Amino acid sequence: MTGTLTSSLLPSSTEEQVRSADRAHVFHSWSAQAMIDPLPIASAQGSYFADFAGKRYLDFSSQLVNINIGYQHPMLIAAIQEQAAKLCTVGPPFANDARSEAARLIAGVAPRGLDKVFFTNGGAEANENAVRMARLHTGRHKVFAAYRSYHGATAGAIALTGDPRRWDSEPGMPGIVRYWGPYLYRSAFHAETEAQESERALQHLRNLITVEGPHTVAAILLETVVGTNGILIPPEGYLTGVRALCDEFGIVMIADEVMAGFGRCGEWFAVDHWKVTPDLITFAKGVNSGYIPLGGVIIAEAIAATFETRAFPGGLTYSGHPLACASAVASINIFKDEGIIDNARMLGKDVIGSALHALAERHPSIGEVRGIGTFWALELVRDRDTREPLVPYNATGTAAAPMTRFASACKERGLWPFIHFNRTHIVPPCTTTSDEISEGIAILDEALIVADQYY
Ligand code: PLP
Repeated sequence: MTGTLTSSLLPSSTEEQVRSADRAHVFHSWSAQAMIDPLPIASAQGSYFADFAGKRYLDFSSQLVNINIGYQHPMLIAAIQEQAAKLCTVGPPFANDARSEAARLIAGVAPRGLDKVFFTNGGAEANENAVRMARLHTGRHKVFAAYRSYHGATAGAIALTGDPRRWDSEPGMPGIVRYWGPYLYRSAFHAETEAQESERALQHLRNLITVEGPHTVAAILLETVVGTNGILIPPEGYLTGVRALCDEFGIVMIADEVMAGFGRCGEWFAVDHWKVTPDLITFAKGVNSGYIPLGGVIIAEAIAATFETRAFPGGLTYSGHPLACASAVASINIFKDEGIIDNARMLGKDVIGSALHALAERHPSIGEVRGIGTFWALELVRDRDTREPLVPYNATGTAAAPMTRFASACKERGLWPFIHFNRTHIVPPCTTTSDEISEGIAILDEALIVADQYY
């Protein structure tokens, strides 16, 4: 071995070095490369991260809605270090204690009857493999995927996605049938009540299944609570209705809980709120808060049985990676020991919801407040009667003024918002305290004056 061992093997750079190397060599997602200037982050703790100048930001975005456990949880770090010292990597053909234990714990918190876990590196791969399982299990090829959904950016997952992020990748995977999910505020069904919205959305699905031919439909894919497309909470009866349609026609129900799962909605899985058991649940993000990339599919017995004697034609070199699985084991245990899911549920019920509704009374630009647990959105409009969005829908999802001005007003005051089209999402770590929420709400209150100017 050559070279001198310094006190740390890790690079320690100045802000300028980070910026210039990033500018020169990092190719960023979802953006024109010339348009972006990412903030270098120097450190993070709990609900905050800090830049190189030491300015702290309260994170109301949880990065990309994945730091459910907060930043730098010491026990999660220790678990990764311990596993790294023991066994850093072993491939899927071998068994491994971290992987077995992660699968056991994930199955333990999933709805009854979903007992097997296929591991991936993230959410898109999870959805791709769930669709593959559903197609092979049913012998059918069509997959129903909703408008206003996001399922990832790999070739299949972006084709399943129902928002403008798919436009530039079309035509994508064949066999996708698009449907409207419930969203009363902008109802595709001219509904006036939640009950009507639910009933009409289900009738619409039934009609589509009939005209597509039930014997050709492998799966209905949905985000249990729609995430980046606006935190859309399913009305009472909708998910049980989808479950019933799937049972009636032998269709696999896939719940994408990549964003909504692992505590985000104040339950282990969002489906727990409605006591619905899908056939497949896809997960990622909150399973280990993204400390190491991990995702997967939780599989119902009947689908797992299809592959008892028939090979499942899919796999990934890093499926069930020991470092990722050790961090999932630690994360699930910490969630249990520290009552993190209860905290998320309490924040939604007693703190965030009421605070956001109070903001809506002061700020005319707030068209609607929606949410559950630590998963909330303010939908901003130019006019409450017409509901004209503050910015139009666009292909990249990047925010245009006035949302960019609103974002700057938040950031100047030390709050990092999550903005998509005309909405700001309030998606802090599930570990956030009530005081921290109040601090963030006070900043939103000031920043919303910018949005009100366009009203
Ligand atoms: N599904 C949902 C609901 C998501 O929100 C995301 C990412 O935001 C994905 C899938 C894709 O996950 P990943 O980026 O890990 O591939």
